[in-house]
Amino acid sequence: MLTAPTGSRHTTRPAAQQPSWIDPVTLHRVIDDLEKQPPLVEPREVDRLHEMLGRAATGRALLLQGGHCAETFGEQALDEVENNVRTLGRMGRAFSHETGLPVVPVGRMAGQYAKPRSRPTETRGEVELPSYRGDAVNGAEFNERDRTPDPWRMRTVYDQSAAALERIPDGMCHVSHEALLLDYENALVRIDPETGRRYSGSGHMLWIGERTRQLDGAHVEFAAGVDNPIGVKVGPSATAEQLLGLIELLDPERRPGRLTFIIRMGAERITDTFPELVERVASSGSPALWVCDPMHGNTRTAANGLKTRWISEIAAEIHTFVRIHRALGTHPGGLHLELTGSRVTECVGGFEPITSEALGNHYTSACDPRLNRDQSLELARLSADMWSR
Ligand code: PEP
Ligand code: MN
Repeated sequence: MLTAPTGSRHTTRPAAQQPSWIDPVTLHRVIDDLEKQPPLVEPREVDRLHEMLGRAATGRALLLQGGHCAETFGEQALDEVENNVRTLGRMGRAFSHETGLPVVPVGRMAGQYAKPRSRPTETRGEVELPSYRGDAVNGAEFNERDRTPDPWRMRTVYDQSAAALERIPDGMCHVSHEALLLDYENALVRIDPETGRRYSGSGHMLWIGERTRQLDGAHVEFAAGVDNPIGVKVGPSATAEQLLGLIELLDPERRPGRLTFIIRMGAERITDTFPELVERVASSGSPALWVCDPMHGNTRTAANGLKTRWISEIAAEIHTFVRIHRALGTHPGGLHLELTGSRVTECVGGFEPITSEALGNHYTSACDPRLNRDQSLELARLSADMWSR
């Protein structure tokens, strides 16, 4: 049996982006309860993904990571899981067919319920309330009851993730999410008695967001303490020193597949620092896997006020990402996308283009705009073409 380590919830490091839970008694009751649950994912599945990502890191495979920006609770969301897995699968086959490389599909799903926010509160008119931090923390509706952080939601995350995992046929894909909410993540760390190694039981792969990757912060400390594959989002302000520091902390043994840098610079800014980052990391001897998140650096507000992204800019960032790797002789290791298998109108463009005027027609994202199914498949084909050239 996998056991929960004791004392796992204590850290002296600053933890950015955590909710202010109101009631510590309830919080600890929920944590105690989570610590007694079986892990959602097993160490051997985690190790298997580690090995597959190792192949991607050494140029023999590609990572295709994708799913919602923010998952939500409820039965309908579970149906969407199946849709998303099918879409990822189709994208992977298109990619693999064109590039001749095996594709490792990893869902942003079965755990992607907590969101970092640019502001801790949101004001509408005279009313100021806590920002929506994802279904793991509070409700999206703008009223005091919904927006008050409720620790029991972490228990629902566990149940909803378990239900989502049941909808993913065995072996179809591994699952990943941002390891943001440390009360939840710490409560799901388990020690494998066979090996004595510590694993996160909350998902196969975890990533650290752009806003929580501080070298002296609690998120990096948490990730350093588990054996799962770890991703780190890397935005335009990242320096080579920061990446080398992350490598020291997260992958001191330089194991291929352990560490993935998820680049999210934006189509314009990717040429500024990215070539230097790749060169410095590669010459340090790190086998880190590089993947491109062409979504988060290309978010815009449309005239009607909706957050959107243009397929043309998404494609442009991917193109530059691949081109820079080719010029340096390093491996463009894959993509990290926000997408859905349903017919939403959240991103602008595509073969049968969604116009910025049509964005409001079917805009259902709980957070950032996602590619719809057709846009996802088109982008997979377009990207595969960039990889094969
Ligand atoms: C995200 O992936 O939804 C996200 C918030 O990304 P980033 O940390 O790169 O901003
Ligand atoms: Mn997002």
